[in-house]
Order: sequence, then structure tokens, then C-alpha cells
Amino acid sequence: MYKCCKILKHGLCFFDNMLASCCFSPVDQIDGQVPPVLYDKYKGQIPSKDDLFERINNHVEIFRKGGCPKECKDCYHIEEKDWDEDNYIDYITITHFSICNADCIYCSNNNEKYERTNNTYKIIPVLKNFKDQGIIKKGCELHIGGGEFTIYHECDELLDLFAINNYARVFVPTNAIKYSDKLFQAMDKATTYIIVSLDCGCKRTYHKIKRVDAFNKVIDSLKKYASTEKSREAIRLKYIIIPTYNDNITEFKKFLKIAKKLGIRNLIIDIDARYSRVTNYRIDDYFINLAQEMNEIALKQNFITEFYSFYFQNTNDKQTKKESFLSKLKKKIYFKYFDNNIKKLYKNHKYGAKRIEY
Ligand code: SF4
Ligand code: SF4
Repeated sequence: MYKCCKILKHGLCFFDNMLASCCFSPVDQIDGQVPPVLYDKYKGQIPSKDDLFERINNHVEIFRKGGCPKECKDCYHIEEKDWDEDNYIDYITITHFSICNADCIYCSNNNEKYERTNNTYKIIPVLKNFKDQGIIKKGCELHIGGGEFTIYHECDELLDLFAINNYARVFVPTNAIKYSDKLFQAMDKATTYIIVSLDCGCKRTYHKIKRVDAFNKVIDSLKKYASTEKSREAIRLKYIIIPTYNDNITEFKKFLKIAKKLGIRNLIIDIDARYSRVTNYRIDDYFINLAQEMNEIALKQNFITEFYSFYFQNTNDKQTKKESFLSKLKKKIYFKYFDNNIKKLYKNHKYGAKRIEY
């Protein structure tokens, strides 16, 4: 028995310039903290199985000896248990592309020095090779990150390789501006789930947050994605509370109305990760109470709610997740609502990132 992390032992995360164990960073990524790196300057090379697991086990060894890799310090994924020592991968994250057809105000890819790209290495040959060699276990989890998956050039191939055939449980965040029939098939026939951050209940607020005129397109796609009972259950509609943009009950009620009309039951209530970062995870009472009120209204209308943010998520148990978000953070409140730093952050945020037309 020793302290370690299942993602460190069995996870891979593909970035555009490195292959790492995970995409979690317990320390604020604004400070340049990176997760445990396996291959630096990675561009889609296929390593041998031995080399891959030797590198993974070098990190694990630090835990085995009672230490903790500096990249994992304070990470909520660390747990103490009897670990299986087999070499396999069952948790993959793909975040090596950044192309998107929206321009969300909170997007971590919004950076004037950063050009969104679809022009990245091909990941299919790597994953196919790992799958054929038995390195990637059947029943694994595949998490998509990066930009907008439905316009990423290997989207359909990836869904064929892992989703349609039920090889993996696939989790896809999508803005739903572009409808993907392949994605719908995966939701309807296999174990693929989508998360759509709508964050609003009307065109005007949508445009303020997403800064593209695509509200109607999104609603049309959602209608199609929600057209069968199974596919409907595979949708989680998300409301990210963004200070000064949608932090009110009126907007949230409009959001609920849309969800109800579409028959979508699963909701996520969240808070802008940048707000959490600049406040050092001390959330103002206003937002704690707002999230709580939103939750109560949604529950009364028979929605299923979840507080989902990896900054707060330290368990898979939904109830604990809610409690840890609402009670743990409540203890640390010091920040004042509409604090000047927050205002400055939102106003000075640069939006030079290049995006394609949808
Ligand atoms: S402990 Fe955290 S940072 Fe380290 S590998 Fe696990 S998830 Fe990643
Ligand atoms: S949908 Fe929004 S948050 Fe997601 S990648 Fe595109 S711009 Fe960023």
C-alpha cells in the first residue's frame, strides 16, 4: 500500500508539444506548472512499450518510495491503496489541437500570442498502434480537450476507433455549433457523452459570452443530439457562472426553460476557472449562494445537477462533490464581489486568437 495516482500509473495526455501523464495541474497553470512529462517536444512519435512504461514508472517510483513528484504536489487525485502493478493505459486525454469556431470569453486558448490550430500531429497512428499492441485497455476512458472536436480533422476516425465500437467511454466537450452525425451515433449507440456549455438562456447573452452569432445553430444541434432517449441522457448542459456576464437567476431560469424544452435532464453548474484562479480559489459568498440557489431551482424542476470543475472535483461521488464545492470553499471567502482585479482581468483579456468561420 502506498500513496499514488491512478492517472499517473495508467494515463496519457497528448499535448501539442509533449506527451504527459495527465492534464491536471494541482498548482495554478498560470504559473507555468506542468503535469508529469513523459516525452518533451513530442510530435506524434510512437515510443516502444518498454520505453513508455519505463518513463511512467520513473514517476511512480517516487511515490513508491514515499515521496511525491513535484508536479503532483497537493493534487486531489493522490490516494493511498494497494495498486495493481500491471503496465497498461486506461485513461487518455487528447488536447493537442486548439482550433475552434467559437471565441468564448473564458477560453484558456484565448491568448494573443497563440494561434488556434488544426495543423498538429496525427494522433490516430499512435493510438491505433497502442490499441493493437494491447497497451490501451478496452473499457478505457477517452477525454477530449483542446479546441472544438467536431471540426478537428481526426474527429470521425477517433470516434470510429474508440467510440462507435464501444472500445472506450468517450467524453466530448463540444460547443455544438457544428452538428456531427458521427458523434450523435456514438451517443445513441455507444458510451459517449457530450458536455455543452450553453451558459445562458438567450441569444444576447450567448453572443456576449461566446462572441459568435451561433445561438440558433447550437439549439438546432442540441435538438438533434437529444432526439433519442439514450442520446438525450448522454448530454450534460453546462452553465458556467461568469462574473458580470450571466451571474443572475433570471438568465439561469431561461437556461432551464431551454433544457426542459429539449428534454435534457443532466445539468452542470460551474464557475469560470479564471475567476477561481485570480481569487486563489476563494469564491465570493455571492457566487456560492448563487450556485446554491440555482441548484435548488433546478432540483425542484427535476433536473439532475452536478458541480463540475476540476478545480473543485476531488471525488467521483456527486454528493461529496457538491459539498466540497459549497462548503469547503465557503470557509475561505475573502474576496469582494466585483473586485477591481476581476474587472481588470475581464477588460484586459486579449482576444487575438485566430478562429475559423463556422
Ligand atoms: S497526481 Fe495529479 S498531477 Fe500527478 S499524475 Fe495524478 S492527476 Fe496528474
Ligand atoms: S468552445 Fe469556447 S471554451 Fe471551448 S475551445 Fe472553443 S472558444 Fe474555447
